[in-house]
Amino acid sequence: MSVDDFSDDCEWRLAAYRELVSLVNGLFGSFLADYCCNCRVVIGRLPEAEDEEFTLLEGVYPGCCHRGAGDIFRLEGQVPERSYLEAGLIAALQRERKLRMSSFADGSCGGTYRLRRHDDNSVISGAHCRYFSASGCILGDLKGPLCINFICPPMRRDLLLVCGDDAGLVGPEPDFLLLYRSLAVISYDTRAQVDRELESLGRRVKVFKERCRQFLAINKIDSLYDFFNGDK
Ligand code: SF4
Ligand code: SF4
Repeated sequence: MSVDDFSDDCEWRLAAYRELVSLVNGLFGSFLADYCCNCRVVIGRLPEAEDEEFTLLEGVYPGCCHRGAGDIFRLEGQVPERSYLEAGLIAALQRERKLRMSSFADGSCGGTYRLRRHDDNSVISGAHCRYFSASGCILGDLKGPLCINFICPPMRRDLLLVCGDDAGLVGPEPDFLLLYRSLAVISYDTRAQVDRELESLGRRVKVFKERCRQFLAINKIDSLYDFFNGDK
């Protein structure tokens, strides 16, 4: 790597990071957002949750957005020296998040929830991620690695069907679209390698979206969520 590659290192890496998150946000926004908006239905498909019924007593159902989740910077499955986002990149990301948070009123994000489990009448309480608002995540392209990478088992199962069982495209179970690998490249490799990785990810996302569109067209439906969860 040349010395030039390290000038303004964190800033161009942050720009690349934001580009990657925007690509994934676009994919979620077009085809998958209603899964997470109806998380309780989706999670109800897990064998261990089959007969679970809850009543929300207070707050908003958290989905995946529990306290701390947005600040996990681990890159699962990467070699030890690349198993976290690079420290300077984390610092730049946190700086931008702080700025974004400052435009929201105190108390409009985070908070707690309480649920009553019907089975044994017990009450479960928990805390939301500090970036979670009543209308969803406030971070946009500043979301953390776990937030863009995690897809739950029912969602993954559906996406494999949509993509013709192409696990190479969907990615292995803990690495949706091989995003952790791309994030490791953005963290540690040269600018030229990062550019190539973003181009490659852009192509993968394009193919993925095309498969989703084809699936919707063939089945004459508007929503993957409705198709797979409609009668639940
Ligand atoms: S990924 Fe799955 S478990 Fe997480 S919020 Fe979305 S639907 Fe719910
Ligand atoms: S950063 Fe956003 S997507 Fe991630 S856990 Fe927090 S609210 Fe959810």
